[in-house]
Amino acid sequence: METIIKTESLTKIYNPLSLNPKLALDQVSLDVKEGEFIAIMGKSGSGKTTLLNILSTIDDLTKGKLFIYGKNIYEMSETERAHFRKENIGFIFQNFNLLDTLTVKENIILPLKLAGKIIDEEDFKQIIKDLEIDDLLDKYSFECSGGQSQRVAVARTLVMHPKIIFADEPTGNLDGVRSKQLMQYLEKVNREKNITVIMVTHDPLDAAYSSQMYYIEDGKIKDHLLKKDDSFDTYFNKIVKISMEL
Ligand code: ADP
Ligand code: MG
Repeated sequence: METIIKTESLTKIYNPLSLNPKLALDQVSLDVKEGEFIAIMGKSGSGKTTLLNILSTIDDLTKGKLFIYGKNIYEMSETERAHFRKENIGFIFQNFNLLDTLTVKENIILPLKLAGKIIDEEDFKQIIKDLEIDDLLDKYSFECSGGQSQRVAVARTLVMHPKIIFADEPTGNLDGVRSKQLMQYLEKVNREKNITVIMVTHDPLDAAYSSQMYYIEDGKIKDHLLKKDDSFDTYFNKIVKISMEL
């Protein structure tokens, strides 16, 4: 499979010129091949969100290089980057980021509208059916439960046909049953639509749906695990072991 994200020594320092510069990412290299499902784990404050934001181009590096689909992200103008994100990248967040003043349907098609794209009705119907939100379309997002809201947020991402989905603690506000459903769905779109998934989580059970796991500590990669031919349970147990040892 093609390498779609190439990195060289990703380094992020927050407030570099202040009295308290914070080294949040320390020369991380993490290449991503098309179709992979990557979990990024680590304790709170270890740099997971920083890494995800940099890989997804919504935050800037202090040092290092980032190439996505062979393009050096830092040689693009902000307009080019915005266009690039729109064409390639989808996001799922812990707090869903839905707009309360819009209905579920309006929320889902908002990014399409903003991008000036026409809604593909067949595709839309399939997505809302798969996510079991077809009977929620006319509700306002504040009327939805946490699980429903996250499925709406996933639909909003999928209608844009992203090549890569970035998710930051997507199950952070979901209970166990809803978390499992969401992970199974992400695993399914990863497999069936060949969408690359890069997900931050601190839950080994979520991470066990990935094809590989990076464990970061103090802004550095401390461990890396490939699922390969492991069963779900074997892979899960290995992830638990790493999370506990560190
Ligand atoms: P995680 O997602 O693993 O909890 P983060 O990537 O959010 O960790 O943060 C990594 C470190 O960088 C933490 O020590 C955090 O306090 C710090 N940090 C994150 N964002 C900022 C910021 N905007 N300014 C200063 N420090 C930050
Ligand atoms: Mg975080």
